[in-house]
Amino acid sequence: MNWFLVSAFLCIAVLFLRYRANVREQWRQIHQMIDVIGGGSRPGSFILHGEKTLQGIGIGLEKLADQRDRLESQISREGFNLQAILASMEEGVIVVDVGRVIRLVNGSFLALFNLKTTPVGRGALHTLRDAAIEGVLRKALATGDAQFSEIALTAPNRHLAMSAAPVRDSMGNILGVAATFHDITRIKQLEEVRRDFVANVSHELRTPLSIFQGYLELLRENPELPREEIGRALQVLSKHSTRLNALVEDLLSIARLESRRDELKLTPWDAPVFFRGVEDDWRLKFQTREVRFCTEIAPDLPSICVDSFKLGQVFNNLLENALKYTPQHGSVTISAARALATAGTPGTDVEIRVVDTGSGIPAADLPHIFERFYRADKARSRALGGTGLGLSIVKHIVQLHGGSVRVESVLGSGSTFIIRLPV
Ligand code: ADP
Repeated sequence: MNWFLVSAFLCIAVLFLRYRANVREQWRQIHQMIDVIGGGSRPGSFILHGEKTLQGIGIGLEKLADQRDRLESQISREGFNLQAILASMEEGVIVVDVGRVIRLVNGSFLALFNLKTTPVGRGALHTLRDAAIEGVLRKALATGDAQFSEIALTAPNRHLAMSAAPVRDSMGNILGVAATFHDITRIKQLEEVRRDFVANVSHELRTPLSIFQGYLELLRENPELPREEIGRALQVLSKHSTRLNALVEDLLSIARLESRRDELKLTPWDAPVFFRGVEDDWRLKFQTREVRFCTEIAPDLPSICVDSFKLGQVFNNLLENALKYTPQHGSVTISAARALATAGTPGTDVEIRVVDTGSGIPAADLPHIFERFYRADKARSRALGGTGLGLSIVKHIVQLHGGSVRVESVLGSGSTFIIRLPV
């Protein structure tokens, strides 16, 4: 009996120890699984042999790991989308928190503000050193409303359109501000050009008009004016009406050229015939001013197509200037030849030079000479009836032909205008 009891007890003890070892092993496996899942990986297997509860735990852990994997891939997909969107945006983007500490920026933002390293984690004011931007961010945070402002940066010199909107959580609490910066420097420059243009046109019109008014009043109030006085007044009126006409003509030309309403009427260019026509038109004027004028056309010019009428305008403007600024006994020469390629060999472009031995242009004025209304010597240009638009028209027409124009000049010795026209 005792033996039976002892052997039964031993059996139970052995079974119990085996059961305990099994349970321990399974718990060890569960710990291992949790460690692997916690480390961000996936265990090789979730199968736990033994008790149903433990098997259930294995299945539960597998579900947990699956869900974690799904969430991770969703987060990384969204993160990628957000990064891709931000990186592809032309506008600079910045997100700051309520303390105006930068939390996120995109590449365009770094480029706009010339930042070499990421400013994330630093204060917006400290990073950008711009009180206006700081003001807009503060106002968006304080009011909870979207703000819009134009920001003028000095270094780099840029104009930006800034819009800042508060970022809120699902409860409506403000978490920070997201702002975008759009570079409007080019628009601002164009606005300035337009303003300058209108101011210049008004100025150019005002002078002859006030002279008109003055002389008309003089004639009206003094009907008994001597004949020669009346003649002089009429001469001045006629001179200024010619100038007004020239100005209006040039303005119309510029407007047409800039709006590209004027299409080029290209035809094969017969250069010798073209320049014979130019010579015929100008010979008498140069003779009267006692300025020598000649054309030298190379016989081997490449055949190109041009708009002869517009090209005529180019040489009229250049010759008018050459005649105006070249004194008696000086000379003006037009030469046309095949342009040299970079290696010094004959190229395919045509190069035309208009060379005068006139007053020349100061070096400081040379970079601006083709700008609208730019004059090296304002008083002289006006006195000579210039509109300040001639060279600007020349540049436009040459560029419409796909060519280029530049000037070389030595003050006191003369100027050379060089036009290149491509085949
Ligand atoms: P403008 O009607 O005043 O001549 P342009 O646009 O034709 O206007 O020329 C701009 C300026 O360039 C002139 O005012 C003049 O100062 C200078 N300029 C142009 N051509 C010559 C030249 N051949 N010699 C000296 N100065 C010139």
